[in-house]
Amino acid sequence: MKSVPSSKPAPAVQTSDVCRYYPMGGGIIRAVDGISLTIERGEFVALLGQSGSGKSTLLNLLAGLDRPSSGSVLVRGRDLAKMSSEELAAYRRNDVGMVFQAFHLIPSMTITENVELPMRFAEVDRAERGQRVRESLEQVGLGKRLEHRPSELSGGEQQRVSLARALANRPSLLLADEPTGNLDSRTGEEILKLIRDLSLSLGMTVVMVTHERALAERFAQRLVFLADGKLLSQEALA
Ligand code: ADP
Ligand code: MG
Repeated sequence: MKSVPSSKPAPAVQTSDVCRYYPMGGGIIRAVDGISLTIERGEFVALLGQSGSGKSTLLNLLAGLDRPSSGSVLVRGRDLAKMSSEELAAYRRNDVGMVFQAFHLIPSMTITENVELPMRFAEVDRAERGQRVRESLEQVGLGKRLEHRPSELSGGEQQRVSLARALANRPSLLLADEPTGNLDSRTGEEILKLIRDLSLSLGMTVVMVTHERALAERFAQRLVFLADGKLLSQEALA
């Protein structure tokens, strides 16, 4: 994998005129329609826009879960389109952490086992895994709940576990799709504060989809507004 030659490190994310179209009936849905966006390393960006504006589609393109119809997505200078499916799988495993509105924890597994799962896929040593599970769960304030199951935890705690799982392989990029969507406002705020603090302490880039502008304004460094698959406007916050 080559990086783009430059004196400055390549940005965390750089999309150029990226499009994702879906054929639909006789027509076509332009879910993402020509978005060019640069996100610096360590930046915390919020993607805002109405339902159907293309936020999740854009996030999935950054995650390498989906491929663009045209245009490009560069992550730290690496063009996702030029990766083989093995390279893309390794990218998803090692470089990206994801958090969703529904926490997607496995109910029959303990918290420890849930957080350990991505490390097993990444073939991290057993001894190292135990250490990292504890570290990740401590980072989200759940170091004492290792043997509990998801159903024994509150919604906010379950989202913390899913965050710990996302951190397990030490990603440089955290992608969060409506992470506060299932939480009451106080708990949502706590989760975003945690994500922001982790971003600052780990130097991790965060791209978060939300429709809660007030929350985004409190925690993100930049707001990016989408409408109809296009970038409508941006706002840098102090
Ligand atoms: P948002 O996350 O902003 O609510 P999405 O990115 O989920 O929006 O969707 C953007 C548009 O693309 C919507 O019109 C949606 O119906 C459409 N879309 C998303 N995924 C698919 C798909 N797999 N097949 C067809 N249309 C899709
Ligand atoms: Mg969405």
